[in-house]
Amino acid sequence: MKVAPEYDFFGWVYHSSIGDISGIRDDAPEEAKRAYEEFMRDDPKDEYAYLVPAGEGDKFEIVFNTDLLGEEKAAESIRHYLESTKKITAPDGTVIRYNFHPEGSSIGNALSHIMGHLMERTLVNRIYPDPDDFMRVITWKLGAVARVIYKEAKAELAEETGEALPSDLELRLGISECATINLSETLAEAMADYAANGEKANPLSIKMVETGNRKLEEYGG
Ligand SMILES: [Zn+2]
Repeated sequence: MKVAPEYDFFGWVYHSSIGDISGIRDDAPEEAKRAYEEFMRDDPKDEYAYLVPAGEGDKFEIVFNTDLLGEEKAAESIRHYLESTKKITAPDGTVIRYNFHPEGSSIGNALSHIMGHLMERTLVNRIYPDPDDFMRVITWKLGAVARVIYKEAKAELAEETGEALPSDLELRLGISECATINLSETLAEAMADYAANGEKANPLSIKMVETGNRKLEEYGG
């Protein structure tokens, strides 16, 4: 989970073929570049909460970021989160700006988001039980398990609806803007969406959570 920047840089980002944000355009305004640098930094300081391994095996602790959710900053952080859950539409109904986090979610869903990351991390660790296995690190870093979950969920969705699905970018924007950063964030946001909206969540969110749960059962419950 990362805090949305004050400056909306999304108009200037490049997307990879699957929709991941892969860079920012050279002609972007300096503010957009700064916001992008700030936002894309892979640093737990940007997260409301994060996972740390706890002892042997599959155990993790969820640590809340006291810089963002401590006494001093909590009110501001919560306001920031809530402002980023609104979808802005034009009078003719077209979407001007997608919500950064799933519509209808609240700061409590920062925890559900982390549970999505925990689901992926647990699966990686069960597939590669040896903590010194290089593949475990690579699989986690690349979000390869989240990618498999996404692909399977998408295939099921296409089969059930019997219609051509929109592009990967559109599909993931249907969950949230944060869900387009990479597929690990898609899974985490799907979990937040599902926790906040239940059966009314985006169909892709529901499918991803179901697929992830099925995989957890496959790999040891
Ligand atoms: Zn995240």
